Amino acid sequence: MHFVVCIKQVPDSAQIRVHPVTNTIMRQGVPTIINPHDLAALEEALKLCDTYGGEVTVVTMGPKMAEDALRKALTFGAHRAVLLTDRHFAGSDTLATSFALAQAIAEIGDTFATPDVVFTGKQTIDGDTAQVGPGIAKRLDLQQLTYVAKILSIDAASREITVERRAEGGSQILRTRLPCLVTMLDGADAIRRGRLDDALRAARTKVVKWSAADAGIAEPANCGLRGSPTVVKRVFAPTSREQKARQIDTTNKPLCEIAGDLIAAIFADQPALKHDLGFLGSTGQQGAPDVDRES
Ligand SMILES: Cc1cc2nc3c(=O)[nH]c(=O)nc-3n(C[C@H](O)[C@H](O)[C@H](O)COP(=O)(O)OP(=O)(O)OC[C@H]3O[C@@H](n4cnc5c(N)ncnc54)[C@H](O)[C@@H]3O)c2cc1C
Repeated sequence: MHFVVCIKQVPDSAQIRVHPVTNTIMRQGVPTIINPHDLAALEEALKLCDTYGGEVTVVTMGPKMAEDALRKALTFGAHRAVLLTDRHFAGSDTLATSFALAQAIAEIGDTFATPDVVFTGKQTIDGDTAQVGPGIAKRLDLQQLTYVAKILSIDAASREITVERRAEGGSQILRTRLPCLVTMLDGADAIRRGRLDDALRAARTKVVKWSAADAGIAEPANCGLRGSPTVVKRVFAPTSREQKARQIDTTNKPLCEIAGDLIAAIFADQPALKHDLGFLGSTGQQGAPDVDRES
């Protein structure tokens, strides 16, 4: 089996600062890490490799320094690393990024082995759009499984994959055919510590470096700034919300009355919440207690 994992090198968000005057992100001197969801995807791919055999290729599109992220992935146990780096990629939005990555994955398939599962993280901690995974799936015409918490099994004979997907209000078990693209949530499993032999192999492994042309991109105008329709109109830091603590008078009141006052105050602040929770008020259509003191 061949598992391809897309990883992105991102600034460590815990150490990011916003420029007080321009409100732009100050990246200078901020250490970089592998996007956490991508690490989870890598761990899942390595586990599948342990169970079903095969190899893991990691790929990133980025500047030359993104090679560090690939080297790290090799020390965790990835077998091959591909760095897509070219000035044509500069300024790519999600459309151009997914285009370049899809082309590169197709080229990886032609050059090394056809991927059975392509992994991306659910989203990055810098761009945060969660668009690149589905964008790649669409371009490569792959089945896509999003928000995956765990791969449950792969049936190599019937070429089917079963996954657990986190959904609103619970989990879903989904099965589809291979090849497919999985966008992975983080936190399912801690990334393994690289073994000594992986570290030694990583040190000997050459990162494959591809330009746009090497990745089979005939028309560079589809990449980078020229291939990116997104226009950033304004960048700003969110304004902090002024919220003051309120006191509720509890003198000589029984507990149930205090609780009623508290709930009524919350509903007064957020009227939509009452409807969302099914508290339909004095019409009595739904069986929740009416705490609206006016009605
Ligand atoms: C409004 C806006 C404006 C932007 N403007 C610019 C700009 O002017 N110049 C600029 O350079 N960037 C810009 N970016 C960032 C750029 O669009 C993103 O870095 C890129 O398109 C990836 O999107 P994302 O980070 O949201 O990835 P998501 O869609 O959140 O990522 C999902 C997954 O896709 C994979 N993935 C994403 N990117 C890569 C990658 N490069 N290599 C390998 N795998 C990857 C990872 O597995 C990741 O977990 C901008 C982003 C936004 C939201």
